[in-house]
Amino acid sequence: MDALLTDTVVVTQDEQRRILDRAAVAVRGDRIAAVGDAASLEAAHPDLPRLRLRGRAILPGFINSHTHTILTILRATVEDWDGNAVYGYMSPISYSMHPEERQVMAMLGVLEGVRSGCTMFVDPFRHVPDYAEAMAGTGVRLLLSENCADVNTLRIRKGDWSPDPAFGEAFLERAIAGIERFHDTHDGRLQVQIAAHATDNCTPGYLRRLADLAHRHGMVRTIHLAQSPEEIRAVRERHGCTPAEYLVRNGWAAPDVVAAHWTFCTHDDVALLARHGVHMAHCPANSSRRGPHRAPLRTIAEAGVNIAFGTDNMTEDMFHALKIGLIVHRGAEGGAGVEPQPETLFDRANRNGARAIGRLHDLGSVEPGKKADLAVVRLDTPAMRPVINLVGNLVHYGHPGIVESVMVDGRWVLHEGRVTTVDEATILLEAQKVARRVWQRMLDANPDLPPPRPLRWLDA
Ligand SMILES: [Zn+2]
Repeated sequence: MDALLTDTVVVTQDEQRRILDRAAVAVRGDRIAAVGDAASLEAAHPDLPRLRLRGRAILPGFINSHTHTILTILRATVEDWDGNAVYGYMSPISYSMHPEERQVMAMLGVLEGVRSGCTMFVDPFRHVPDYAEAMAGTGVRLLLSENCADVNTLRIRKGDWSPDPAFGEAFLERAIAGIERFHDTHDGRLQVQIAAHATDNCTPGYLRRLADLAHRHGMVRTIHLAQSPEEIRAVRERHGCTPAEYLVRNGWAAPDVVAAHWTFCTHDDVALLARHGVHMAHCPANSSRRGPHRAPLRTIAEAGVNIAFGTDNMTEDMFHALKIGLIVHRGAEGGAGVEPQPETLFDRANRNGARAIGRLHDLGSVEPGKKADLAVVRLDTPAMRPVINLVGNLVHYGHPGIVESVMVDGRWVLHEGRVTTVDEATILLEAQKVARRVWQRMLDANPDLPPPRPLRWLDA
């Protein structure tokens, strides 16, 4: 669209982190044409329709650097269950879904994310060809991938970590289909990357094939790293090293790799990963549901690792990630105090996410020439007054209720509180029905899996 968003505050997140008052952003097509003083831009762009945003602020849209939107289906169940949810419920439920059910849950996740100011989702999961089109139909920016594994993730909960080549080939086939059908489509809004699920469910040869596939297509890569004690033990028993060392040995420690979590990394692991330029996707809320988690965040930050924020599972709320991220980081490694400051945390939700996937040249800040991926938040609300240090307000007290509009690629996805691209009410109704149906199907097919806690369904 062509428009001048004017008479507003702009949190640029540029190199100087300038926050402009009485400012404007000129949008032409899918790009930001100019950013600056409102009066100057109004004079310089007389042809652009004006949208006055007094009492609001324009932010770069949040980049959710690691999420699995479909796993909204597990919301308020496994968070309160004491076990390995990845192999206990996440893998089984994802295989219990039909294509249209995957579409509904993925769109539910996207809608929640958009309402928290998110414009881009990095979402590695399974059966991408089933739901990629539906997700793209919401209008957001996507980096999708098959979360490939050649150890059968449905058997690990029974203690079986043996390789399953057929399982691995099925993933590779879907990964290749995903590249051919979806990569760089929807005006470039939908991109594909290569994902290995985790260090305990990918054999060395399989990791190397995935790396080759990524290099052949010039794609970035992602993997889960050191997220559970079981993973640490399994890699130690089979390969005699830590998960971080396993990445280095098999060509997965490089600047084109974003590793999620790092929860049980040692200080030596951190130094190794930092030396190889691996980026971190940190998901503080999900990792801390059983108490503040133990990733060595101070060491990771001090080693110069680029840290980006994600939500991981069961929620897409980026404000939640900011708030809990602040608390977790300040308390990391037995520390306490007021470091890092809100500005450091805020970077992780936009600029650092763009840098992690090699896109800082066109995403992650509000600057001329970049993609018009923006969130408009209300400052004329009780939680945002007084406005003294705006980034402090957003990190400590921001919430999805302040998000009024979201633009992706120069088009409104959410405008003045209304989702413009899909029928939100229908998706919300469908998501309730789908979740109930899929949960029942999973429990029927897996008699060894009792519900993690009593499921009390409401006709909401
Ligand atoms: Zn994950």
